[in-house]
Amino acid sequence: MSVDSNPPNTCWKCHKTYPVGTKICITCGVDLTTGEDLAFKGKPNPDQDEVDPYRPRSARDWFTMSLPGLFQPMTLVGFFGMAGIFVVLEMLAMMMLSGHIILTAVVVAAVGLIAWAQGIVFLLVGHFTLLHEGLTEIRGSQWHIFIVLTVAPVAIFMTIAGTQVPS
Ligand SMILES: [Zn+2]
Repeated sequence: MSVDSNPPNTCWKCHKTYPVGTKICITCGVDLTTGEDLAFKGKPNPDQDEVDPYRPRSARDWFTMSLPGLFQPMTLVGFFGMAGIFVVLEMLAMMMLSGHIILTAVVVAAVGLIAWAQGIVFLLVGHFTLLHEGLTEIRGSQWHIFIVLTVAPVAIFMTIAGTQVPS
């Protein structure tokens, strides 16, 4: 506790020193004997109220909470597997596009995208689960990650495809 490092008559909040025997810091409302913040007694403490268990406290926390699959070897392998399928299918779709097999190319590209979304779900959920089941476990800000991570490759594919489609 930080209180221990101060002499008992020094307020941990404003570091003001009081004569021995003083019980309360009149500036902060801190109980000098216990270190308790009396000003917040009965009122919501801004440091403690609304503690969101999902609120990240550091970058590492953010990754652990938002993309738990990154820290699970199996889901990480699953993600790279899906990413591999995605890359292969998108490349196949590109080749089909340049070969004027447009409709099949779109289907192949879509299947590749589903594989990619499945991989993202592995990372977001942290265990193996089917895409549609995993999506029900995604919460709050994870949806932003999911949307960004799935829309980004689509945008890239569309941009590249746009240059490939014969006019
Ligand atoms: Zn004080």
